[in-house]
Amino acid sequence: MPAAPEHLAFIDGRRVPAEEWIDVRDPADARVIARVPRCGAPHMDEAVRAARSAYESAWRFTAPAERSLVCRRIAEGLRAERAGLAALETRDTGKPISQSLTDVDVAARYFDFYAGAVEALSGETFLPDGGLLAFTLREPYGVCGHIIPWNYPLQVAARTLAPALAAGNCCVLKPAEDAPLTALRLAGIALAAGLPAGVLNVVPGYGEEAGAALTAHPDVDHLAFTGSREVGEAVMTAAARNIVPVTLELGGKSPHIVLPDFDAGRAVPLIVGSITEHAGQNCSAGSRLLVHESVHDELVEALAKAFDALRIGPGSGDPDLGPLISAKQRDRVLGYLDEARRTCALVTGGGAPEGREYADGFYVEPTILDRVTPAHRVFNEEIFGPVLCISSFGSLEEAVELAEHTTYGLSAGVWTSDVGAAHWLARRLRVGQVFINNYSAAGGVELPFGGYKNSGIGVEKGFEALREYTRCKTVALHTEPRHS
Ligand code: NAD
Repeated sequence: MPAAPEHLAFIDGRRVPAEEWIDVRDPADARVIARVPRCGAPHMDEAVRAARSAYESAWRFTAPAERSLVCRRIAEGLRAERAGLAALETRDTGKPISQSLTDVDVAARYFDFYAGAVEALSGETFLPDGGLLAFTLREPYGVCGHIIPWNYPLQVAARTLAPALAAGNCCVLKPAEDAPLTALRLAGIALAAGLPAGVLNVVPGYGEEAGAALTAHPDVDHLAFTGSREVGEAVMTAAARNIVPVTLELGGKSPHIVLPDFDAGRAVPLIVGSITEHAGQNCSAGSRLLVHESVHDELVEALAKAFDALRIGPGSGDPDLGPLISAKQRDRVLGYLDEARRTCALVTGGGAPEGREYADGFYVEPTILDRVTPAHRVFNEEIFGPVLCISSFGSLEEAVELAEHTTYGLSAGVWTSDVGAAHWLARRLRVGQVFINNYSAAGGVELPFGGYKNSGIGVEKGFEALREYTRCKTVALHTEPRHS
């Protein structure tokens, strides 16, 4: 069998190997499809130095219009490689090809959006007492460190890099060891689009090695982390040691709240999609369903029917669900299901699908668990698989109490034709985004996105993210004339 292709690290505009390598597997059949360098602290140091040098020598003083142009060219470069990038993302993550194509489109949209937004970035002016004219400048931080997960590698890379680069920062990104390939390709596309060497560096490696080296580096000015709550805490601790700001986009246990007057025709497919997109490996997955007791049976029946019709298979065939990312992740999800089968009511699914075609891949059946209460582990913990947990409530207050029971606060869906009830709930839920009669994990690129509670700190996406990647400097000028 031919050796798996090597996808090298990208530092200072050059492709860089390492002495050791990490195998990257196709989750559909566990085959090694590529290998990437197992970078460590010396590579990270080289990347941070390259970013610092690019920042000080040129990038920080480029005009917004110039950065805007490069961002637009990166968007074009992504679109030009749409089919190839999507195929690579599907092989690397296992997700259905139509979802990977959407990821490429959204990644390109981020670069387009920040190309426009950066030209509208401005400060404020003040005329305080004493003849002072004061104004604020929005300045880039300098060197930004970005650490991303494996579930939406290209989309999340673009989400966090586009505003940072557009704002004038230079970046070092560490992709996840399980799915590093499209982020590495993005670096090549950016260089070809005219991004100067050193402005973007992509350094693969394990979290405890390359990731920890990036967060501990004393010359990094800002850290943006997307991933689990546990690692988020470690990143924040490292940031505290160097007194640098940190953006954390962490996990979720997002609820749908369904009131008696919901529109089943609209709600059912969107609820199903919210927990089966990328096999539930989505921070914003609608993983809990809180349903009014009067419509519980009707909704569970409709959902079970929809779940049973879902097609599972390799992402290249564009099924409804592909495999999970790794054997470790599949076993973790099956562990939750083994426990829940004994404590909750299993409606459908509940294990790994049977059949030779699934033998080598990391598949889990789409599963519905009913009669789930706050006493169950599956009610509170992020499973990160295609598992919907259903609980019922009798009043709006009870719905809020159940929704608020977990430590997370990322997203929520509200299903009702009662506008007053929808807004009453939207005001009370401690979550970063509320979708009413809709559920879109990603939303538009222009919508600010962030978590409350243990789901994170700070905001990505939208104009807000440009502020997140700039700092505010006040300049005050004495303007009284010296001669009257
Ligand atoms: P993870 O926290 O295990 O890993 C995320 C990244 O952190 C990887 O690149 C990993 O190598 C790195 N890492 C691990 N240990 C590290 C350390 N000690 N120091 C520095 N970096 C380290 O998460 P995951 O399993 O890759 O992704 C799943 C999690 O990500 C879920 O909890 C999901 O909800 C969350 N997520 C959140 C969002 C969001 O926008 N809120 C988006 C996608 C995923």
